[in-house]
Amino acid sequence: MILIRHPLVTREHEKFVELVDEVSKEYVEPIADKIDRENYYPREAIRKFGEYGILSPVLPKEYGGSNMDILGTALSIEVISRYSGSMGILTEVQGFLVAHAFYTYGTSTMREELAPKLARGELIGSFALSEPCCGSDAAAIETRAERKGGEWVINGKKMWITQGLYADVYLVFTRTGPKEARHRAITAFLVRRNNCIEASPIHVMGIRGTGTSELTFTDCVVGDDDVVGKVNEGFKIAMEALNLGRIAVASVTLGLAEAAIMEAMEWVRKRNAFDQTLTSFEWIQFQLADMLSYIETMRSIVYDSAVRFDRKYDDYYAFASIAKLVAVLLGIDVIRRAVQLTGAYGVWSNSKLNRIYRDAKLMEIGEGTNEVQRMVIYKWLSKYLG
Ligand SMILES: Cc1cc2nc3c(=O)[nH]c(=O)nc-3n(C[C@H](O)[C@H](O)[C@H](O)COP(=O)(O)OP(=O)(O)OC[C@H]3O[C@@H](n4cnc5c(N)ncnc54)[C@H](O)[C@@H]3O)c2cc1C
Repeated sequence: MILIRHPLVTREHEKFVELVDEVSKEYVEPIADKIDRENYYPREAIRKFGEYGILSPVLPKEYGGSNMDILGTALSIEVISRYSGSMGILTEVQGFLVAHAFYTYGTSTMREELAPKLARGELIGSFALSEPCCGSDAAAIETRAERKGGEWVINGKKMWITQGLYADVYLVFTRTGPKEARHRAITAFLVRRNNCIEASPIHVMGIRGTGTSELTFTDCVVGDDDVVGKVNEGFKIAMEALNLGRIAVASVTLGLAEAAIMEAMEWVRKRNAFDQTLTSFEWIQFQLADMLSYIETMRSIVYDSAVRFDRKYDDYYAFASIAKLVAVLLGIDVIRRAVQLTGAYGVWSNSKLNRIYRDAKLMEIGEGTNEVQRMVIYKWLSKYLG
């Protein structure tokens, strides 16, 4: 097991991480393969995480969280993802993208009643932004909310929505003005599960068992009380949530890379070739040295970005993108090398590395693709250089 030792990590973080590790070992490790192979949605593990306050650690204890900062939350997602990338992503979506968003931007009822139920795993929530028309260009979404007789009526489709199949509540981003107004005419709504929502499964190559779905909204009626934040100001909520999501996806990739090096190390220590163990070849040792160096670089950039968020640095958003881009590029390389070190065993459908490899690919896409991170970083660079 790779120890988390870093100057930014406190004793309180370490104690929390020990709890996350114990709970993950008990409730996630035994079902990690099943989640992947059978596309099994781990509803009970989510409930258990909620009971231990590790589903949305960033919320206060009395709201179902653990009073953790963003760094503590990132650490917990890293540790969970060593056992299962799917469980890491479920925690990220439920905790950061949904519970924390309702807690931070919602009405008093959303904050006091809904957020705690999500953090405790009593309710399941989805973050519904992407659509068949557009993912990277989120300001172009087409799902409409129209004002009719004092209420709002929502029609449209959402695509790739994590937990969409199982959600009790959806944080839905809609167009509430002309398409040309782009991000200035997007409003976020709380939509409760209802007959007006049809959820169809989408099967993906990695991060399986997360209830990925296409959602169709047909004449869903919601009220003014269901607006999250202000009318036409929903895009900011989406982007703020995604900034946290980027740190979380970087943490998932870090956890996956750590799991990969542990698998590879165990293998090369026991595997013989040419009358020697693989570890006796310098090339193999150098591969592992590179992999660990990449992992420690990932760790530094991921923790740094979390602390910038905690300390409210004004450039936190650029560092969230830098952390995601660097962690994903390095992490995928670590995982690719781990598969190589284990030869055909690494690509066997029975191997954990096979699952890790497929899970890692999706980290280049979710919460903004590598190209979208580069757009954010370049925009910041142009501003920074004046
Ligand atoms: C398993 C999974 C779960 C997901 N869960 C959710 C969820 O819970 N909620 C949600 O809202 N969304 C979710 N998504 C959607 C995800 O956020 C989008 O897939 C992502 O933002 C990319 O959008 P897209 O797939 O439409 O690709 P597109 O936007 O169509 O992009 C296609 C390609 O073009 C590139 N590209 C686009 N524009 C440019 C440009 N200007 N310059 C250079 N390259 C460009 C992209 O980087 C990408 O490589 C999920 C996706 C997956 C795979």
